[in-house]
Amino acid sequence: MRNNRIWARILGVEKTIVEGVEYDDDAGCVVVSVRPTARARSRCGVCRRRSPGYDGGAGRRRWRALDAGQVTVLVEAPAPRVMCGEHGVVVAHVPWARHGAGHTRRFDETIAWLATHCSKSAVCELMQVAWRTVGSIVDRVWSDTKRKIDRFGGLARIGIDEISYKKGHKYLTVVVDHDSGRLVWAAEGHNADTLRGFFDLLGEARCAQITHVTADAAAWIAKVVAERCPDAIRCADPFHVVAWATAAVDKVRRGAWNRARAKAIPRKRFGTRGRPRAGTGNTGDPYRERATVVKKSRWALLKNPENLTEKQTVTLRLIELEDPALYRAYLLKESLRLIFQMSLEDAVVELGRWIGWARRCRIPEFVALARSIVTHRDSILAAIEHGLSNGRMESINTKIRLITRVAFGFRSPEALVALAMLGLGGHPPQLPGRNHPRMSQESPKLWGSHTPSHPW
Ligand SMILES: [Zn+2]
Repeated sequence: MRNNRIWARILGVEKTIVEGVEYDDDAGCVVVSVRPTARARSRCGVCRRRSPGYDGGAGRRRWRALDAGQVTVLVEAPAPRVMCGEHGVVVAHVPWARHGAGHTRRFDETIAWLATHCSKSAVCELMQVAWRTVGSIVDRVWSDTKRKIDRFGGLARIGIDEISYKKGHKYLTVVVDHDSGRLVWAAEGHNADTLRGFFDLLGEARCAQITHVTADAAAWIAKVVAERCPDAIRCADPFHVVAWATAAVDKVRRGAWNRARAKAIPRKRFGTRGRPRAGTGNTGDPYRERATVVKKSRWALLKNPENLTEKQTVTLRLIELEDPALYRAYLLKESLRLIFQMSLEDAVVELGRWIGWARRCRIPEFVALARSIVTHRDSILAAIEHGLSNGRMESINTKIRLITRVAFGFRSPEALVALAMLGLGGHPPQLPGRNHPRMSQESPKLWGSHTPSHPW
C-alpha cells in the first residue's frame, strides 16, 4: 500500500484523496494534504447539493485530526466556495469534517464519546482541547445524530419537568419517556412557548398517541398539555409531590432552629477570636443544645429512613424527644412518601387519612401542603393507578442535574442540551472505526444493557 493510502486509512477518511504528507517543524505536527474525490467535490456545505464554484474562499484551511501516537495531525485542503441555489455563497462541503467545524469527523466522534464517559479534566487533558471546544463539538455531533434517528417513535407515557441550572438563574424544560427511561427532549427556558416547541416537533399525529403525562404543578405545563394532548391522563409527578413535603419539613426545621436560637442565652464573648475555653461557654443551656440538634438534623429529616446513618438515627430520636412538632412534620413527609408505594385501593384510603391529619396538625407549612394535595388529589391517584410512581423520573432528574454542573463552561445552553441528549437520550455516541472485525472484540452493547456510567 502506498504511503498516501496508508495515511487515508490512519485518518479514517472517506471520499478523500491524500496528496502528500509532511512534518511542519514550526507547528510540531504532521500535515496531511488532501482533496475530496471528484464526486464529493463542488457540493454545498449545508445541503450537499452539487453547486457551481464561486471562488477560492480564504485559501487553504487546516482541520485537526486524531493524533497519530503523540503527534498532532492536521488535515490541510483548499476550502473553495460554491453558489448554492438555496443557501447562496457557502464554503464547499468536505467529506472529512462537518460544515463549519475545525476538527475532523473522527475527532468529533471521539470527543462526544469521551464527554459522555469521562470526566471533564480527562477529556481536556487527553485530547488537548478546551472545554468550550468540547461543548461546540458535542453540539454539532448531536445535531447530526438527531437528524438520523427517530427519537419520538412509540412515545406514549411522558414526564415533563423543569430543571434549574446556573444556581437557579436558568432553566431547562425536559421531557422523558416513562417506558424506556430515556430523555426525549430538552430545551432552554421554562414557559408555555418552550414546551410548545416540543409538541410542534412531535406533530399532531404523535401528540394523539400520548396516553399519560406526568408533571409538577406548574400551571404553564398543564395549560400546554391540555392544549396539545387533551385526551392524555394527567398525573402528578410523585417525585415532585414528595419534594413539596420535603421542602415543608425543611421550612419547619429552620423555624424550630430560629426559635430555639432566640431563646438561648447569648454566648459570652471572650476576645474576638477562637472558641471559648472549656467550661466558660453556655454548655448546659437547653435551648442552645436544642438549637444545635435541630441545626444538624437537616439530612436526618430529609433522607429516606432506610438510608440513614447510625448517627442520623440518633439525631432523629433526639428530635422526637425535643421537638414534637418538627418530628410530626417528619412523620407527615414520610407517610406521604409511602403512599406512592401502595396499591391504588390502599392509597385512596391513606391519602384521605393523610389529608385529615395534615389539616389538623397545627403546622402551617403542612396545612398549606394539605390544601395543594387536595387540589392535585386526582392526578396523584392517577399516578399511582397507572404505575408512574417509580423512581425513574428522580434518577433522570439527578443525572441531568449532574450534567448541568459538568456543562458549566460551555458557551451555549444548546451544548448542555446536546450533552444531556447524547448521554441520556438512548443514542449514545459510538467510537469511530470500531467496526473492523479484528478491532471489535466485544459485541456491540445495546441501550438498556449498557448505560454509560458517568463519573461526574
Ligand atoms: Zn445548499
